[in-house]
Amino acid sequence: MTQQPATLCLRILQTTDLHMRILGYDYFADSAATPEAQNGLARLAPVIRAARGEVANCLLVDNGDFLQGTPMGDLFADPAMIDHTGAHPMIAAMNALGYDAATLGNHEFNYGLAPLDRALADADFPVIAGNITRAHGPALPPWVIVTLDAVDNAGARHPLRVGMIGLAPPQITGWDRAVLGGAITMQGICAAARAQVPQIRAAGADLVVALAHTGIGAADARDGMENAAVPLSAVDGIDAVLCGHQHQLLPGPRFAAMADVDAARGTIHGKPAMMPGYWGAHLGVMDLTLAHGSGGRWRVAGHDIALRAADTSADDAIVARAVAPAHQATLAHIRRPVGRTTEALHSYFTLIADDAAVQLVAEAQRARAAELLRGTEWADLPLLSVAAPFKMGGQPGPAQYTDVPAGPLTLRSLADLYLFPNTLQAVEVTGAQLQDWLERAAGIYRQLRPGQPDQPLRDPEFPAYNFDIICGLSYRIDPSQPARFTIDGRLADHHAQRITRMRCAGRPVAPGDRLIVATNSYRLGSSLVAPLGPMPVVLDTTESVRDILRTHIAAHPVITPPRRPVWRFAAQAPGTSALFDTGPGATAYLDQPGLPPLTPLGRTAEGFARFRLHM
Ligand code: MN
Ligand code: MG
Repeated sequence: MTQQPATLCLRILQTTDLHMRILGYDYFADSAATPEAQNGLARLAPVIRAARGEVANCLLVDNGDFLQGTPMGDLFADPAMIDHTGAHPMIAAMNALGYDAATLGNHEFNYGLAPLDRALADADFPVIAGNITRAHGPALPPWVIVTLDAVDNAGARHPLRVGMIGLAPPQITGWDRAVLGGAITMQGICAAARAQVPQIRAAGADLVVALAHTGIGAADARDGMENAAVPLSAVDGIDAVLCGHQHQLLPGPRFAAMADVDAARGTIHGKPAMMPGYWGAHLGVMDLTLAHGSGGRWRVAGHDIALRAADTSADDAIVARAVAPAHQATLAHIRRPVGRTTEALHSYFTLIADDAAVQLVAEAQRARAAELLRGTEWADLPLLSVAAPFKMGGQPGPAQYTDVPAGPLTLRSLADLYLFPNTLQAVEVTGAQLQDWLERAAGIYRQLRPGQPDQPLRDPEFPAYNFDIICGLSYRIDPSQPARFTIDGRLADHHAQRITRMRCAGRPVAPGDRLIVATNSYRLGSSLVAPLGPMPVVLDTTESVRDILRTHIAAHPVITPPRRPVWRFAAQAPGTSALFDTGPGATAYLDQPGLPPLTPLGRTAEGFARFRLHM
């Protein structure tokens, strides 16, 4: 009777793109109650422990983008702060959970090399970076072999040598050029893997796992590609690919249409692959069945992948204890001013006049997009920036307005200015698409009859966050004309035109003109722009607009809010007036320059301040 060949199960647990989410606390809003406060490594910890407890052989790894993304990350980019509390809070949390290895993402480089080195100095686990070379000083190891005292299915022990290589997008040298200079150089993801995987094998690895801070994109290997997981999976000698960077889920429907990807099972080119989202909302659980083949080497004979959602009910006590001093320091930090504004920033009049708050957000987006597009084929096209008032009354009621008084700005003010965790994107559009974009936004107005008094101005069904204002253009809005689109985006009348005199840098915009619009991730997937037809994405980032706004304000400590002439109502027939409802707080700002004539009419039943707007 021959002996049954040994099989061994190895479980790999993966986090990725944690972005400094540790405790369930939203440091932007200074609140534990926002939707953003519901995830983090401390919420994932019980899921990690449970998954580990179910198996004999287990590794826990992270795929990068762990040190940046919240005010706590910004604060602990100062090595003195790390010295003060003993360890970087994310490293302390990862040590407490017993990580076996990690690799770096692009955001690890946002603060430069000195803070990164200081943070990593306390890591109890290897941090590997296989395609990053340092000009000066010691580089991180490109790969590592972790030897497990593994137990096979018959109970026998084997040393299992798991090779891991770290990989990250080579775009880092450009994205963080300002802080890095030429301090690092990078190789392509696939080129680095092809060069080093044979070395890892030669050093005795039983299998090789790629810790790849890269997304699932084009199938063909191109030099320097950012999202290289598909061609990377085809590299000989790699047994499994752990992905990240895109903040998406694999297994999951997002990748269902891709030829080389099995989005249900979690394979790319037939090899096990997973991507467990971001912010610790999910844990990747990859079970590899290893068969002891000929020549004494283990090979992957099967796999099973599941993503497990975090337990959002409470922070794990061990992780919470590990980061308690950092949490207290961060609370003190976020309550200090980040800058000053010489004027109030509010949304009370955004429906009827140029608005400094929207323009400030748009300007921060435009400046960052310009930086990121420098040197690309789009750098010479006109760059516009679009923003909307996220808080502007309507159905959410008269208290739902942005209202940041003149004086100190705190992170809380920034959360008031920019409510959502959207990320920066930019698209290429035609002049005709710009016209349609603004026609969509102008659907917020009811059609006014010329010469009639006291007509309702706003369609209450139209959400404020869809009232896009395109900064960098100038235009008029004529609510006496019918809307071109319905609220849900159907073309109602393609002859209808509310937007007139659309100009860019003083020149009329022609339908065939090409322009770039900086916008956000939410907008590109929304019904507002769906009727506009395809708009090529020229900039796809995971940088949050609120972070960009914070950086912008930090660079200009005293903000004089812009109020450039972007739009106004087209002249209306004499006697035309509308009823304009806004938050009661508006009465403090009635002396704002540039407002159209308003006559107060008291309060509505819902508590809005009502004005007669003389058009
Ligand atoms: Mn990320
Ligand atoms: Mg990334």
